[in-house]
Amino acid sequence: MRHSIHLLVYPFPSSGHIIPLLDLTDLLLRRGLTVTVVISPTNLPLLDPLHSSHPSSLHKLLFDDPEITPFPDPLIAKVISTQKLFDPIVKWFRSHPSPPVAIVSDFFLGWTSELASHLGIQRIVFSPSGVLSSSILQTLWQDVEEINADNGDKDQKFSFSFPEIPNTPEFPLWQLLPVSQNFKKGEPHYESFRKGMLANMRSWGIIYNTFEELEGVYIDHMKKQMGHDRVWAVGPLLPDDHGTGRGGSSVVPPNDLLMWLDNKPDDSVVYICFGSQTTLSEKQMGALIGALELSNVNFILCAKGSKSGSIPSGFEDRVSGRGLIVKGWAPQLAILRHRAVGSFVSHCGWNSTLEGVAAGVMMLTWPQGADQYVDAKLLIDELGVGKRVCEDAPDSVPDSVELARLLDESVSGSYMGEQRVVKVKKLSQAASKAVKDGTSMRDVDTFVQLLSQ
Ligand code: UDP
Repeated sequence: MRHSIHLLVYPFPSSGHIIPLLDLTDLLLRRGLTVTVVISPTNLPLLDPLHSSHPSSLHKLLFDDPEITPFPDPLIAKVISTQKLFDPIVKWFRSHPSPPVAIVSDFFLGWTSELASHLGIQRIVFSPSGVLSSSILQTLWQDVEEINADNGDKDQKFSFSFPEIPNTPEFPLWQLLPVSQNFKKGEPHYESFRKGMLANMRSWGIIYNTFEELEGVYIDHMKKQMGHDRVWAVGPLLPDDHGTGRGGSSVVPPNDLLMWLDNKPDDSVVYICFGSQTTLSEKQMGALIGALELSNVNFILCAKGSKSGSIPSGFEDRVSGRGLIVKGWAPQLAILRHRAVGSFVSHCGWNSTLEGVAAGVMMLTWPQGADQYVDAKLLIDELGVGKRVCEDAPDSVPDSVELARLLDESVSGSYMGEQRVVKVKKLSQAASKAVKDGTSMRDVDTFVQLLSQ
């Protein structure tokens, strides 16, 4: 009997990175592959549901989270600490009766390229970010010294083939990854991180959680940059069901939220959430609360991690009936997919961006860091599927009156024929088609076929 293809999947240990790569793993398992996932006991709950669905073909390679290397930049510290798994993975591989033929690993784990060549197997990069933002990121690491030396020089030219995103004081490229601003040539950890990012471009292939209608031009750009066609766009990677246990357990019973939404008219609710990491400052939260009070919208506000006191006493009573506050993990996908939700105030993390677009809701962008500024630009300036609610800078505070107006407008009946809404509904249909029987499904199949050759 022919053994099924065995892959090693290695997500970067942070929920926004683990969730989409496990969604991809599900697709691969359904195509008959055997997959071993590198995971730590802390993140095991994220893997368990998938393991129950594929008990015989999904295996766990459990390693305790390596001790974090002391370093001022937390991202680099975390990335560097993962390198301690090089030898343990080699040892596991060497003793395995039918070891993996390739490794699919997160773009922050660039060192796994060296691991793969040491083991004599291919490495495929998994990018949890969009193609536009990650290709800018690649260029940023390529040219990091020049960018930092001249940050904000308007005349500066970089080798993007899409020059809409130049390095200007209004949009300094280092915003994309603040680590790069502190880059110190010759400092071993910075150099090692950079080496990993650059190794991504020399990998055998790259898988993106995106789809052709969303980023087709950038996918083509990446194929040119890589010098081959092994660039696959397989998204949006989302479960078919409500995904209520995805990434975390909701702090409120999902059915209560859904029943609340059942009683609201179509496209009448604004959903507000800033992902798994971001916490608004007190000023920002104050402006948002003020806007919600001034507006007339129905809303669900996910106020995870907000400091006590940032939601003023009495607010919940004053908005009762039209507003719900979830103080912790919310079942985001189920909320966005409900017919009553019409718009989404988002920090534009890539998963939220895809989830909002796939659900066909109007995007109200409030980016806070990393790739989120570029994602917001893509949504607003290129795709035209939303509006900015706040300037693109980490500490910006929106004006409550203006924000209230935008919130009201985003779910007003008269807005429904508006170009932005028409466009996002069209993109939503394109997203469903891509994963059902379109380009994203084709790319997953092509990837699996190439592995079998
Ligand atoms: N998420 C969720 N409930 C929450 C917050 C986040 O389900 O209360 C999910 C969200 O659906 C998305 C992921 O967590 O899949 C967040 O990823 P994203 O890339 O949007 O942002 P990050 O957390 O990486 O900043």
